[in-house]
Amino acid sequence: MNVCLNFKKINKNNYQNFINKKNQSMFNKFKLVDFSDRVIFVPHCMRNTKMCKAKDEGSYYTCMQCNECKIAEIFSLSKELGYKKFYIMKGGKAIHNILKHEKPKAIIGIACFFEGAQAIKMTDKEKILVQFIPLLKDGCCDTDVDLEEAKKIISLK
Ligand code: SF4
Repeated sequence: MNVCLNFKKINKNNYQNFINKKNQSMFNKFKLVDFSDRVIFVPHCMRNTKMCKAKDEGSYYTCMQCNECKIAEIFSLSKELGYKKFYIMKGGKAIHNILKHEKPKAIIGIACFFEGAQAIKMTDKEKILVQFIPLLKDGCCDTDVDLEEAKKIISLK
């Protein structure tokens, strides 16, 4: 393995350790937050871009539940449980404004380890509880998440 790949792996391991520790440290308090005070953020790269009917809302998309990707099922569960809001984010920068506007007590974020670590640092400042779900396969498109794991975390109470 070359130096560059080694460096990437070390960084990924650092982010992974940081996120695992944060998830564990907030787990018990997170479970006590009402669903109506929680917001979910998922990345746009999880969409099936060839088929997606999601509505473009500027910095995020609203899922139209065409059932062509796993987001539809995650969105359905969030509505069923009574989550405050659900966002398909185009990037992490807009999250700060959404947090200021929605004022959730807790959030669930699905993202790659790097984006997840940045979001957790931001929510730490705002004192918002977080559970982060890492992507199984990251990248710029056709990313994937463990749906059963995501549903388990989303249903935590
Ligand atoms: S389920 Fe939602 S996010 Fe997924 S492809 Fe359809 S409209 Fe897009």
